[in-house]
This record gives sequence, C-alpha cells and structure tokens, in this order.
Amino acid sequence: MDQTGTEKYKSTCSYCGVGCGVIVEKNVGGQIEITGDESHPANKGMLCSKGMNLHYTVSDHSDRLLHPQMRWARGQPRRRVDWDTALDRAAAVFGTFIDKYGPDSVGFYVSGQCLTEEYYTVNKLAKGFVGTNNIDTNSRLCMSSAVAGYKKSLGEDSPPISYDDIELANCFFITGANPAWCHPILFRRIEAHKEKDPDVKVIVADPRETQSCSIADLHLQLNPGTDTVLYHAIARCLIENGRIDESFIEKHTDGFEEFRARVLSQPLEEAADTCGLPVREIKQAARWIGDANGFISMWAMGLNQSVDGTAKNLALINLSLITGQIGKPGAGPFSLTGQPNAMGGREVGGMANLLSAHRDLGNPEHRREVADLWNVNSVPAEPGYTATEMFDALRSGDMKAIWIICTNPVVSLPHSAMVEEALEKAKFVIVQDISQDSATVDYADLVLPAAGYLEKEGTMTNSDRRISYLNKVVEAPGEALPDAEILCRFARKMGYRGFDFDTAADIFAEHCKLTRGTNIDISGLSHEYLKQNGTVQWPFPEGAQEGTRRLFTDHEFYTQNGRAKIHTQDKGRPERPGENNPLVLTTGRIRDQWHTMTRTGKVSRLNQHIDEAYVDIHPEDAQKRGIDNEDVVEVTNERGEVRVRAIHSEAVKPGVVFIPMHWGKVLQKDFPRANNLTSDRVDPVSKEPDFKFSTVEVSKF
Ligand code: SF4
Repeated sequence: MDQTGTEKYKSTCSYCGVGCGVIVEKNVGGQIEITGDESHPANKGMLCSKGMNLHYTVSDHSDRLLHPQMRWARGQPRRRVDWDTALDRAAAVFGTFIDKYGPDSVGFYVSGQCLTEEYYTVNKLAKGFVGTNNIDTNSRLCMSSAVAGYKKSLGEDSPPISYDDIELANCFFITGANPAWCHPILFRRIEAHKEKDPDVKVIVADPRETQSCSIADLHLQLNPGTDTVLYHAIARCLIENGRIDESFIEKHTDGFEEFRARVLSQPLEEAADTCGLPVREIKQAARWIGDANGFISMWAMGLNQSVDGTAKNLALINLSLITGQIGKPGAGPFSLTGQPNAMGGREVGGMANLLSAHRDLGNPEHRREVADLWNVNSVPAEPGYTATEMFDALRSGDMKAIWIICTNPVVSLPHSAMVEEALEKAKFVIVQDISQDSATVDYADLVLPAAGYLEKEGTMTNSDRRISYLNKVVEAPGEALPDAEILCRFARKMGYRGFDFDTAADIFAEHCKLTRGTNIDISGLSHEYLKQNGTVQWPFPEGAQEGTRRLFTDHEFYTQNGRAKIHTQDKGRPERPGENNPLVLTTGRIRDQWHTMTRTGKVSRLNQHIDEAYVDIHPEDAQKRGIDNEDVVEVTNERGEVRVRAIHSEAVKPGVVFIPMHWGKVLQKDFPRANNLTSDRVDPVSKEPDFKFSTVEVSKF
C-alpha cells in the first residue's frame, strides 16, 4: 500500500494463454486500475486491447449472478435460495443418480479459465470420489489435438520452448493461427524482433489473409483442411535438398524411414495442387526452414480444431524433429494455448482421458499412485465422456446430470441445436458461472454464482509453462463464492473426505505433492514462493533454484526409450462440399472479443472494433449469389442457419466463408451463433471438434 492508500498487486491477464503479467491498483475508493507488468517475462509491460480494458469487466456487476437460484421442476421459474439449500439439492440429486444409475450417469464440464486449484478440486471430486472420469473441459475444443500431438511425438504434453526463444529464432512458421488478433503480445514480440533483424523470416500458412500476414515474408494461402499435405510437401523438399539433421534423426528419433517413404510418395506438384499453392511457394518455405539457425513453428485452433487435428500436429512437429530444431535456443514446436489456464487444467489431469500430473490413465500403477495420494480405493480406468460425448450422452439418456462450470456450451460447442436438445433432455443441469448473460444459464435447474477474476486467489499456467499466482483483490458481489469453495462444500455434503482445505494455498500444495517425481514436478512450489519470487516455468522440483526455461536440451524425450517419434498418420475425413452446401465455413476469433462475449461484450470500447457478427465472403462467390457488400444474408446447412451481414472480402479464398465464433446472446439481435452451423465431427484421437471445416450455402435474405 502506498501513501495514498492505494493497494498494488501483481496478477495475470485472464484472457488468452500468453499470460501477460499485470499490475492491479486498488485505490481507497475501491476503484481498480490495471496496467502491464514491466517485470513480467511474457509481456514486459505491454498489454493488448483486451488486457487494457480488463478493469471494466471487474467493476461492472450489471450482469453478475449474485445468489443461488433453483427450480423444483422444469417450466417453473427459478427462485433465490441460500447456499445450503442449493448444495443440499445438488448433493441429493447427484447422490440419487449415482446410487441408481452409477457414477457415470453424472458429469462435470469445466473450463480453461478455471484456476488450477479449481480444476484440481473438480478433478479429484469426479475421479477420486464420485468415481467417474466424466470430467472434461472446453479446452477439449481448443487444445486437445496439440496435447495428443505432443504426447505421441515427444512422449508427454510438453511445450518445449520459452517466450525468450522468440528473440533467438530466425524463422517462424505460423500456421493455423492468427496471433496478431488472438495472441497479440506474442505477435508484437515477433514483429519487434523482425523489425530489428530484417533477415528473420516469417511464413504464415492460413486459408485466410489475416492480420498476422502483415509481417509475413510468405503467405501460404492453402485450401482449408490441407495442412498435413503442405507439411509433408515441405518435409519432402527438406529431405530432397539435404536440409535435414541426419545425426539428430539417427540418435534421437524413431520412425523416420516410414515418414520419408510416405512424403516421397506424393509428387510435389500433386501436393501443391491439393493445397491450392504454387510449387515455388512450398519450396521457398522449405528453403527458409532448412536454412534457419532457429526455427519455431507456432499453431493454434486452425490445426487443432479438425477431424485430423492430431495428424496435423504430428506432421508439423515432424518438421522440427527432422531438422533437429528442438531443445536448443530459438527452436521448437510451440502450440499457442487459447485460454489462460488450459495448461494448468491439463497438469492436474482435468480431462476425461488424463490423470494427475501427466500420469497415464491407462497405467494401473499411475492410477494406484493417485488413488493412494487421494486416500481412495481406486480411480476409474476407462476414459470418461469428452466434451461433445457428454452432450451426446445427455441426449441418449446415458448421462442424467451435468454440472457446467465457467463455460457457455450453448454458444461455444459445435452443432448448437444438439447441445440445446441435450440440455433439455438432461434430468438435472447445474450452471456455475459469474454471468447471467451466459446463454447456458437459461437451461439450469440450479444456478450457482461464482466469484470472478480478482475476486479469488489461485494459480494459472500460460503457454510457455509459466505458473503465476493471482491475488484476491476485491470481494465478490452478492453471495458469489470461489469455484473451489463451492465444490468443496458440495463434496462435504456428499460425505466425501479430503475436501477440508482452509485456503487455495492448501489445494495447490496437494497438487504440487502429486507432481513429485513426474516430468512436471513442481514440488518446490507453493503460493508463498510464487508470491515472493514471481512466476516460474515448470518443472520446478523441490530444491530447484529456478524454473526450466527450455525442455529436451539433452535430447532425451519423455517417451519410453527417450527418442522422439516421427509419426506418419493418415488424414481424417471432414465434410465434403456438395451441391446443397458448396462453400466451406471456417470460424474463429476477432481481435477485441473473447469467447462468448459474456465479459468483453459489456466493454463498450471493445465493441467499437467490430460490433456485430458478419460473414466474410469472396466477391466472386457473392456475385454469383447476387449478394452486395453489407447485404443481410442467411448462411445455412442441414444443422441450422445464421442471419448476418455479408462482407465482401478477398481475405478468404473463393469457396470459403468465415464467421466469428463469439456472438450468441449478449448484445445480439438475431442470435447469430456460428455454431448453429458447425460440424460435430471430431478427431478420432483427440476428440476435438472440427470448427474449421463445415459446408454451407449463403443466400440473400
Ligand atoms: Fe491478455 Fe492475451 Fe492480451 Fe496478453 S495478449 S493482454 S494475456 S489477452
């Protein structure tokens, strides 16, 4: 506290996975100011438009859920109840279903915006005490293909690099990502690095010409869904021109011969034709990658959200492996995390197919370790329902009840009509959220008001494995409680032992204990340590003096034999454009909005950038359909329709249209929800849905 009575706290931005450090100042009147933390390694004081306007979302309580609400039967209005009544009901209903239909009749659907302590608690509750692996998260919608890719190739979900590597690299391959809008501070670092050293090459591969192309030396505007073909074609050029690291391949990898045979089997011209790219552009990309001293690939949802998201990840990681560009300064395959704590969620094992501290759910010894630490008989072996599977199970009646925490699936899951049907068919729906503007609240039998950003303490892990502590700065409004406390109170109502945590620090301590001896060992960490010393990159075992900046510097990978695996994997099968739906719809984010807009949608400054949903359509496609610029159009397919304004844009290729994913309920006239149209096909390995490739038609309204 300074002389004026202003309190100062360090924290982390609660939006994207860049995880920028912020300084929060609270004056004597309780007003909040948020500025960039100049000492933070991620952002060095910079903030993007979303981060700069964070304080508005903290002080504006106009949409906040303030009290538990409950209804006794569908069709009845929800009424305010006290916490005891609400959690007694939750315990009675969940208890009844578990007794009658078994533990897999209930499930928890949570969020990459939960703090690690919250993720830890719900994961322990579901897997250790309810006895189900039906705990999944909206991270399934953004990062699970990257998790699968890292696990299969490097042995574990382990982003190998640090943000500091950006300034040490001289070739960036940004593919399936638009960091200029979605990870802006990271992008600014690349931009500044390139400005200082014009020899730094930036290659962007994206079916759209996004803002990230503004610094690109080469934009590979490939056809949607052809990423694997492109990476294999680049690999072919690297192999044919001797620009691979044979010694690294021989000493540290498996699977190269099969991969070489596979990529050499497809002529370059054929690959270029499939991708819709000139051969010379593919050769140019390969030349720059092959010549680089430090090569970093960066990707996000453009790769992950696909029926072959895992194959795309593997094919991209292969480029780093065959060139030996990993485990050294300025090099490595780097997945850009969408949400602020998707990484923390994975670390506690908070997904249907994961186990605590990157342990393997299929390994009986690993399950035993976790069960012993939780003091329970066992942890179920079979993976639970993943995000889309949970909603399928609610529709089929296999799952009876769902507890949704900090996420808005009615807007964010694919094929919205199916999601709505699932929630209508569910016997019991609990929604735990901060905002009544979440469209999912409309389906809740029980609404539990949660504390939001700066209203609770805990930790998060950003994209480069950096764990940060977030202070509690203000009181939550009304009767809202921290998510972890709600879950612990519920657990105690259920009679479960092991949820008597006094503080979030105690929960974190238990999580740290579970990591001991694993590859993500953070047994040397505590809330206290983070408060005193700032952020730390894992692993950080007991006795460590500093975090781990870069993984695999000894070229020992986390696979059983210590060698990275070069995979050769087949493409999945997305929808095919046809006579009825000849256009490919791809969805994504815009610069100033976040997810389903329940927070950013109430900040007028952020709405000034783009204030309504739209569809980008190439002028040729628009002309064929008699659509003028800014006409209202209907975008349709057999799953639904969306009415939006058409924007003529050469940023999309002919045959491709783009709708932003954010709009759903807040401030929206015709409910222009992109996910009315998106395909619910999923990658067979990662179970991540294909938001980037759905077939549609567009017609004038
Ligand atoms: Fe927040 Fe991401 Fe912007 Fe940084 S880049 S200020 S973490 S939204």
